[in-house]
Amino acid sequence: MGKEYKVVKATALSSVTFSVNEGEFLCIVGPSGCGKSTILRLIGGIEDKTLGEIEKPEGISMVFQSGALLPWMNVEENVSLVNKIKGYGVLKVKEISNQYLKMMDLKELKMRYPRELSGGQRQRVGIARALAVEPKVLLLDEPFSALDPVTTEEMHKYLLDIWFKTGKTIIMVSHSIEEALLLADRIMVMEKGKIKQVLNVEIERPRHEESEKIIKDAEKIKKIMESEFASQ
Ligand code: ADP
Ligand code: MG
Repeated sequence: MGKEYKVVKATALSSVTFSVNEGEFLCIVGPSGCGKSTILRLIGGIEDKTLGEIEKPEGISMVFQSGALLPWMNVEENVSLVNKIKGYGVLKVKEISNQYLKMMDLKELKMRYPRELSGGQRQRVGIARALAVEPKVLLLDEPFSALDPVTTEEMHKYLLDIWFKTGKTIIMVSHSIEEALLLADRIMVMEKGKIKQVLNVEIERPRHEESEKIIKDAEKIKKIMESEFASQ
């Protein structure tokens, strides 16, 4: 698939081909402007591709960096909104919302408004809302980049927990190679709208950020990012 912006004659994505396995955790890394968000928007159907094909499952839902919550709705209303729009009955909407509010430890906070939440709590609501759609695939675009390191670590635990419990396919853009190594089964390294390399992460779980293997693999990926493109 590819994406070209006709007006500005910029190519956000060249022809990229990749597939994602069901239940897999894939991280996309690469310098700013290389097309990571474009890939997610194309998969999520927020933008239309101009070239190629995308084969995707029915249920896809997206988590944005800022949480993107509606400020005039409380936590529970934010999480319930899509299912209400779908026309689900009151009880079913409540049941689904409660399930994901519980999973993200938000039950105590469900009457609060987004302005009354910390960054990490807001992002937990963003994830609960995405899960309430009951998607097969969860897309996350640098979801933790605005959070402090301690909160980020907490969010990693939540995300891995969801992944283990629900078996969802997760595609996440990250600006941190260490984060990608901590979470992903595979890492896709991008540059200038192209895929530079896709690597399997062969580190046993549970993983720890300070582990030697992560530090070593991070060095390896940084070298790949700095290297010239292999001629194609
Ligand atoms: P990343 O997420 O890797 O930082 P993006 O996918 O957001 O990068 O963007 C890839 C490229 O496409 C960038 O060069 C960006 O400037 C360009 N781009 C993104 N959105 C638009 C748009 N709506 N119109 C024109 N160019 C865009
Ligand atoms: Mg981006």
